[in-house]
Parts: sequence; C-alpha cells; structure tokens
Amino acid sequence: MQASHVRHARCLRCGAEQPAAPLAELCTRCAPATGESGADSPDADPAILDVVYDYDAARPALLTAIAPSGPPSARRADADVGLFRWRALLPVDTVPPLPPTGDTPLLAAERLATRLGLGALHLKDETRNPTRCLKDRATAVAIARARAAGATDVYCASAGNAAISLAGYAAYAGLGCHVYVPHDASRTRLAWLEQFGADVHVSRGSYDDAFAEAAEAGARHGWYNRNCAYNPYLVEGKKTVAFEIAEQLDWQVPDVVAAPVGDGCTLGAIGKGFRELRALGLIDRLPRLVGAQAAALQPLVRRWRGEPPAPESGATRAASIKVRHPRNALRLLAELDAAGGALVAVEEEAIEAARRALGREAGVVAEFTSAAALAALERWAAERARAGERGLRAVVVVTGGRPDEL
Ligand SMILES: [Zn+2]
Repeated sequence: MQASHVRHARCLRCGAEQPAAPLAELCTRCAPATGESGADSPDADPAILDVVYDYDAARPALLTAIAPSGPPSARRADADVGLFRWRALLPVDTVPPLPPTGDTPLLAAERLATRLGLGALHLKDETRNPTRCLKDRATAVAIARARAAGATDVYCASAGNAAISLAGYAAYAGLGCHVYVPHDASRTRLAWLEQFGADVHVSRGSYDDAFAEAAEAGARHGWYNRNCAYNPYLVEGKKTVAFEIAEQLDWQVPDVVAAPVGDGCTLGAIGKGFRELRALGLIDRLPRLVGAQAAALQPLVRRWRGEPPAPESGATRAASIKVRHPRNALRLLAELDAAGGALVAVEEEAIEAARRALGREAGVVAEFTSAAALAALERWAAERARAGERGLRAVVVVTGGRPDEL
C-alpha cells in the first residue's frame, strides 16, 4: 500500500515543526521531560502535536475515496471500507484487518428540526460503530499504528467509551489491553470491558486521576498509548466524521456542527476535518462549531469566554465529558477561532430533555453526554434566532448511545 502523506508534526503549544515520530510523542522542543502529561501543572496545556500532510500529494488519492461503489462487503479490502477510505489523509501506511469503522448514517431529524426552528437537523449516528461510539474511529487508527510499531499491548484512560472501544478492537486484533477508568465508571461500562476481556484498573479518583495512573503505567511498561489528548495520530481518525458529514450532505456545508466537549479532542478533530476539506477545495466554507459542556463542569466554556477558572461541583451525569483539566484545549480553541461558533454550558435538566427528544422525536437513543450537544445547539440556535439568524442547517454528532448511569 502507498505510504501516508504525513509531512511533519507541529506543536499546538509552541508551533515548532518536527518529524512525525513513529510512536506517540509530545513536542520535542517544549514538553518537559518529566512525566507523560507534558504539563508543568495540571492546569497547563500539554504540548500535543498536530499532524500536517502534503495536501497536494494527498488530493488525487483522496478524491478516489469519495462515493465508493456499493456497500461494504466481506470481500472488500479493509483499506477500502469505512474511515480508511480516507487514508490519504490518515497517518496510516498499512491497514490491518479490523471491524469496519465509520460510514455511519446521517439521519434527517425533521420533527426535531421543525420544533427547534431549524432549517434542517441531521444526526450523525456514531452509535452504529462496532463498539457503539465515535471513539472507534480513533481506536482504528491506534490499532493500525500500534501494529506498525510492533506493539503487543495498548492502553488508555477513559470514562468508559474509549476504554470499551480499545478493549473491543484489541480483542479482535489479539493485543493486550489495559484500561484506566474513574471510580464512578458505570456498571454498564465495566460490564462491556469485562465482555472484551480487558485488564481493567478502576481508579480511586476521577477521570483526571485515572489519566495520571494510566500515563505512569503506560510509560513504565512501554504499552502503546491510545489517549487522544496525547497521541497526535488519534484525532486524525476522529476527523473522518467531518469528511463523512460533508460527503453525505453532497458537499453542502451545514451552518453548524454540534458535539459534546470534554478534553476537546472530538470537536477539535471535527474542525480540522472541515478545514482540510476546504484546503482541498471540496467545500467552500467552514461550519460553525458548537461544543457542549455540563453546567456543573465547564472549564472550557469559562476559558473560551475569557473567564478565570471557578470552583465546580462536577456533579453531572454526562460521564464522557466529566473532565476537570481539559488536555486538548489549544486544539479546540484554535478550531473555534477558525470556524466561529461557541462553547455552551447546559444544565442537567436541559440535557435530560434533549435526550428524551432524541428518543421520542428522532428514534435515536443517545447517551446523556451526547444529548448535551443537542441541548447546547438548541440554546445557541435560539440566541442566533434572536439575533435575526433563522433557518440554520445543523448537524448534531451523537457520539455514543450507552447508558451513563448505573
Ligand atoms: Zn512545543
């Protein structure tokens, strides 16, 4: 297979360009040597890298990825199925056998659109991925790169979905899998991890504690790191959701794309995906980005508004975005600068109402965290309507559908 078109990596913190290393690494210029987090304090931004491609070289191959003929079948090569169709803009030379990932449905939610006063609303249903969440896109790239690096074991810290995703793919690929989850990981999620036979470490603390414990163990054992808020290659998998949205809308860019925000990786990846399509001339503008945080824990909303950090209870059922120290903030804030949009905090009641609406008015079962994106979009669109902007065409990324609660 043709080699990837990765040209180099660029630090999101200091801007230094450097060779794209085979393994996951932080910036070689500004990351401190102590500890994987690469942060000087829990509140500092880690020196995460961004992958840059040779877009002129990638363009012809990427165009052949668009609109493949016919549905995927077991006979087709793995490299021609799902997100690996876009491998001209992925950091992958060889696609290993993996469960088909991506090419999820984009559902027109007409009843919801009408009630919310939107011109159109589409739901990108990421619950249709192999382990039922968007994280599978990052995991597919992680497994491809882990295999290429000769790794025998992979690991991550996660509130649940990334861990389950990694455990499922590692089981398929025959890799050892070590996952670190917070003390309040739901029984549902622990049961999924058990099904996939993962080595599960339940922290006594929060997701942030689990993240630190995973980093320490991973560095000590030399396992392959599947944390999007560290490994620069993983958001590359996530950005393919933007490619698919654009393709499914016949390259008519929506006015806004909404997603939940924890570390900032997913919405940052979506912003990058649309920027790359614009750079390639496939779309002529960027959708605005709306990121949802829970009102009980909204560090990125405060930062985006220019407010100082404030004490926060963290008492939210939105388990997948329960992040006190967001690690990919620089990426997300840069994409918001490029595309416009907003970060919006939503209360538990609004999230619950959005979740019920997704089920009862669109037939989609979303996890609490994913419903936050609809709640945030609803609030933002109402503000825009008051400012005279009506008929917005919106996409909500339903990142997962597993129950967050016990
Ligand atoms: Zn740097």
